[in-house]
Amino acid sequence: MQDYDAVVIGAGLGGLSAASILARNGFKTLVCENTTHIGGCCSTYEDNGYNFDIGASIVELWWIIDELFEALGKKVSDYIDWIPVDPIYGFLTADGQRFTYPVDPDETRKVITGFCKADGPNWDAFQKLGSEAIHKAFGQIMTTPFMTFGDAMKVMTKAPGMVKLLKYMGLNFETTLCKFFESEKVRASMSLQSYFVGLPPALCPGYIAFLAYSEHEGIFYPRGGMVQIPAAIARVFEEYGGEIKFDARVKRVLMDGNKAVGVELMDGTQIRSKMVISNINAKTLYLEHIGREHLPGWAAKAISSYEVSIPAPMIMLGLDAAPDLDAHHTFCYTTLDEMNAIWFEDYYSHKLPDRGFMLVSWPTHADPSLAPEGHHILNMVTFAPYELAEGDWDDLKEKYLETQLDFLEQRFGLRDIRDHITMARVTTPKDFAKMLLHPGGAVYALQNDIMASAFFRPRLRSKAVKNLYLTGASTHFGGGVPPTIGSGIAASKLITKDFG
Ligand SMILES: Cc1cc2nc3c(=O)[nH]c(=O)nc-3n(C[C@H](O)[C@H](O)[C@H](O)COP(=O)(O)OP(=O)(O)OC[C@H]3O[C@@H](n4cnc5c(N)ncnc54)[C@H](O)[C@@H]3O)c2cc1C
Repeated sequence: MQDYDAVVIGAGLGGLSAASILARNGFKTLVCENTTHIGGCCSTYEDNGYNFDIGASIVELWWIIDELFEALGKKVSDYIDWIPVDPIYGFLTADGQRFTYPVDPDETRKVITGFCKADGPNWDAFQKLGSEAIHKAFGQIMTTPFMTFGDAMKVMTKAPGMVKLLKYMGLNFETTLCKFFESEKVRASMSLQSYFVGLPPALCPGYIAFLAYSEHEGIFYPRGGMVQIPAAIARVFEEYGGEIKFDARVKRVLMDGNKAVGVELMDGTQIRSKMVISNINAKTLYLEHIGREHLPGWAAKAISSYEVSIPAPMIMLGLDAAPDLDAHHTFCYTTLDEMNAIWFEDYYSHKLPDRGFMLVSWPTHADPSLAPEGHHILNMVTFAPYELAEGDWDDLKEKYLETQLDFLEQRFGLRDIRDHITMARVTTPKDFAKMLLHPGGAVYALQNDIMASAFFRPRLRSKAVKNLYLTGASTHFGGGVPPTIGSGIAASKLITKDFG
């Protein structure tokens, strides 16, 4: 006798998206969440009157969210108040230069042409292919089950735009941009996004480089903080009768032979269901919550072979004045070589970040209501190892904070930032792992290199365990707000087909 049709482990974006569609389709659905809040990496918490985002700080490819709400029979504008963000980025360089990339591609073209005349027409070509890649390929595959080579072939026939992208599958992010652009500055300023999937330009798959165009289709911030996105999905889920249980950490998946039949919580409660949907790290799911004893040898070996993605320590600052910045997002500019060295030298040798490369996000630029009147929020994100060669993150928070502030003040010209800090919090990779149970503090669950992408990534419908489905950053299409929502849509398509 089942208690539910579907039990979902985790109230992140992937889990909530799948759950809400299932609830709308009449499945009795329960979401079990370990913490007391929804959204996982896409959430917001209040501290001393400041509303800090835990992780995600912007939304692009917004039409995936529209697609979710269409599947739910709702209008997204009834649930989320989108604030358009423009320019996309500001850049601060070590020699005191500043420039921005506006959303309007023609305005960005002017900036690029200022660096290198030839890169104006190069930008046009990049933009054209980028637009096709986004609309004819990524836009479709993100919400489509994509588990086998056969699935890839089917998508290819439906979306011929994909064929043009094939050659970039064999290239990396860096070589893709070098093929298009001549100026080192243009190449580097567009390569920073490779870290948006948690990889350096030399390792990130080439087709991801078109992300640098996708943001020119518009980027948005939800009024009230990033948590408004999962909150909107959770609201619809509950309107359709779905239930969310907080403080409900799943200890294991209940198995009957090779079939998932429910979950057991840490307090011993057992919940029986027709299917289990996981929104947590796939390695934790298979190796800890299911266990090797329930997996065929090939599956245990395959899942063990994935690397978890790089962590992203964050500094959250409350300020009593507006920072001297030009955009919601600012990159402290660095060269391609430096971006690769962050990975090949620092990450591999377990060093604290000390190159000054960071993404500074200024959410109160878009939404002043996130902080007390006249006050502002800055989030500073870098990429760094979980284990450090010298010392432990818990003892190095202060040193890390001071080093990053020194970079901002001394190298990048925000001279008086320290004078305006009213509060500072550092979330280290260890904090992240404790908070969200992300192994290794991983920012995007599993590494997104080519051998862990598309049908090489853990499948939306498990092959090893019957009635088990995956959503979120561990499965197709990987990390990010739109991709994880897309994974929920794609998983719900499979479930509706299997259990319809
Ligand atoms: C620092 C940072 C910055 C980012 N910036 C952006 C950005 O600007 N734009 C963008 O598009 N994306 C961004 N991302 C990525 C994006 O936020 C994530 O990829 C996405 O939110 C992950 O969603 P998910 O569905 O994988 O679930 P997760 O967010 O991983 O949520 C999983 C949930 O499962 C719960 N859980 C874990 N274990 C258990 C258990 N055993 N039992 C019950 N519950 C459990 C966790 O508490 C959590 O709530 C960023 C991420 C980070 C960390």
